[in-house]
Amino acid sequence: MTMRKPFIAANWKMNKTLSETEEFLSQFVPEVKNEHDRDIVIAPPFTSLPLAAEKLRNTNIALASQDVFYEEKGAYTGEISPLMLADIGCKYVIIGHSERRQFFSETDEIVNKKVKTAKKAGLGVIFCIGETLDERETGKTLEILEREIEKGLDGHIDPMEMVIAYEPIWAIGTGKTATPGQAQEVHAYIRKKLEVLYGNKADELCILYGGSVTPDNIDSLMACNDIDGALVGGASLKVDSFASIVKFRR
Ligand code: PEP
Repeated sequence: MTMRKPFIAANWKMNKTLSETEEFLSQFVPEVKNEHDRDIVIAPPFTSLPLAAEKLRNTNIALASQDVFYEEKGAYTGEISPLMLADIGCKYVIIGHSERRQFFSETDEIVNKKVKTAKKAGLGVIFCIGETLDERETGKTLEILEREIEKGLDGHIDPMEMVIAYEPIWAIGTGKTATPGQAQEVHAYIRKKLEVLYGNKADELCILYGGSVTPDNIDSLMACNDIDGALVGGASLKVDSFASIVKFRR
């Protein structure tokens, strides 16, 4: 078994108003207050970040943003800078989520710029990679992941304070989870690839699995050697289901 601390993160995507955020956190915070041997992270929408920062202060839950822009300030209407996120108490930012890549045309180059500015601002990066169904079926999975890692992390990015989230796109929001065996195989490959970039430090890096994680499959996923945590979408929107994912047992 590894020495890596488990890391369970919620990605709420474009869900929850302020009052829904308030209600969720009021119930969730006491529910997981004794889970100290794992990192717990919640990424609400931008509008809920200040309220969530307030509610999570002095708890064992860290705050994350779902995205960030790659400049520190300036004439970029509608964008949010890493300095603003750090300022309100965000500890992490999700970068390169497949929905950003797919619906907002984020390229590996944009992802790389975001990673660099987020790190500069002191934010931990949750760096997402993953293949489509077509890429998997045509045997391109490893090639795609290799490209996303090499380009997205280009520039000798210090891997400490970073986690990688492997999210096969065909498993996101579809109810189709990669089997623990499928996920483990890819996670082990990712760690090997990271060894080329980071040497021994790759062994300390958390690699999360994402894609239809539920209370029913979390234990078997977490039982795999190279699966160190989960990035959870749909099942993170309800207190009960996210709390039971957080409380997984190996
Ligand atoms: C995600 O998009 O990060 C995700 C894993 O979503 P879901 O859990 O809903 O598949």
